Amino acid sequence: MNRRPAIFMDRDGTLSHEVGYVNHPNRFRLYPWTADAVRAINRAHWLAVVVTNQAGVARGYFPESVFDEVQERLRKGVESGGARFDAIYACLHHPSVGEPPYRADCDCRKPRPGLLRRAEAELGADLQRSWVIGDRHSDLQLAWNAGAQGALVKSGYGLGEHTHLAPGWSRQPDLVAENLLEAVERILGQGGE
Ligand SMILES: [Mg+2]
Ligand SMILES: [Zn+2]
Repeated sequence: MNRRPAIFMDRDGTLSHEVGYVNHPNRFRLYPWTADAVRAINRAHWLAVVVTNQAGVARGYFPESVFDEVQERLRKGVESGGARFDAIYACLHHPSVGEPPYRADCDCRKPRPGLLRRAEAELGADLQRSWVIGDRHSDLQLAWNAGAQGALVKSGYGLGEHTHLAPGWSRQPDLVAENLLEAVERILGQGGE
């Protein structure tokens, strides 16, 4: 398989507004720059992959059908901007809440690297050359747990995490950007093919 680097993107606070649990599709809103960012990844022939934890299903806050509808909005939203995801991967588990199969001590709940390993196996992602972009420390830990690089965006929880928490982190983000588009442009600018 011809291995390619990937940009893994968190969903809430990175691709879309952080609004707490998206328990109805009407609460889901993409940022205005999201399709542009994903299109830039497509043009660079990197893989564009969403990686998201959605424990609201395990917690019983909303049925899996709501999650499916939101995925559809996400997919159509970027496609209407001329962009596409190579995959959308989600962890619907929670280690201690709810009922099986959603209550599970899985290997795919971020920051565990299961979703990135899946992209390595299914899409041929080259994790060493890949990045994770997200608004929380756990997104950075996900990257580092899989041998990838981590970028923190200041959208969503990112500004607060960067201001109040990052000084205490033992490892600093490999890149800090205002938003997803700036992060993508800088990653592709330094590592683009
Ligand atoms: Mg997030
Ligand atoms: Zn999981």
